[in-house]
Amino acid sequence: MKKRQPEKMHEVGIATEIYRMSRAIAEEHGGGPLEDVFVRVGELTAVEPDLLEFAWQALTMETPDARSKLHVEYCPAVQMCQSCGQTPERARGRWLPLCPNCGTLLKVEGGQELDLERVSFLEKE
Ligand SMILES: [Zn+2]
Repeated sequence: MKKRQPEKMHEVGIATEIYRMSRAIAEEHGGGPLEDVFVRVGELTAVEPDLLEFAWQALTMETPDARSKLHVEYCPAVQMCQSCGQTPERARGRWLPLCPNCGTLLKVEGGQELDLERVSFLEKE
């Protein structure tokens, strides 16, 4: 698992990148201001959805995209037992060391998502 970067709010850098990509898509289609931007963020990316949405607002505040909204879909990682096939429940941010059912080491799946899913924008005035 990657360690969290020491700089504060790396969400700002990620929001900047999402914004750049979203604008590029809008420009390609002769679009005007952005409306809704949908992203999927996995648990293992160490990105806080709230901070990302906040960073987006700060970033677009004084631009023609000020009224756009970033929608973050949080994708939790799943711990799966390769021995008995269970996917035991766990609290967010906490990891189970072993399968509570059979004691086998659990495998982690998913949680790596950091994808721009969909962008909508208004007509250019
Ligand atoms: Zn098991």
